Amino acid sequence: MQKVLLLDKENRPINICSWKRAIILLMKGKAETARYLNDIDSMIKIDNVLIPRVIKLTYELAVQYKELPFCRENILVRDEFVCQYCGKKFPAAELTLDHVYPKSRLGPDIWENIVACCQECNQKKADRTPKEAKMKLLRRPYRPKDYLKFELKKYPESVIKYWKEYFEAS
Ligand SMILES: [Zn+2]
Repeated sequence: MQKVLLLDKENRPINICSWKRAIILLMKGKAETARYLNDIDSMIKIDNVLIPRVIKLTYELAVQYKELPFCRENILVRDEFVCQYCGKKFPAAELTLDHVYPKSRLGPDIWENIVACCQECNQKKADRTPKEAKMKLLRRPYRPKDYLKFELKKYPESVIKYWKEYFEAS
């Protein structure tokens, strides 16, 4: 996971970028190391170059609101790879996306109508609403609000531990 957390001048998280982009920002003087640590573990090591896991911009940036892409991966992450009907966890490849209000009846492709669903539950539910199928949703599907906090769910604890404090502060 060679990703770098990017902060604005006030130490607020604004993006997660690749280590390559981080190097470019550092070399151009557009960013600096957020905090100097003696701990080598807190750096990403690529060949013989050490890259900080957190950098901050050296200039003022008007941060634009970033919309979370509506896609299969993000729906599975939102639902934590748990079938929203039977509550069991599955590998991504074994999950399907279910239209809560059936697609055959023009149920829309929106965050609020799509949930992660295992193949068995999907077959059982078929072209019915949860009520008709007598299957209860674990929770109502929603559109995630905070883009960056959502992105964090995709990273392992070993990476997040270096970033956490900046999210807690903001
Ligand atoms: Zn299921």
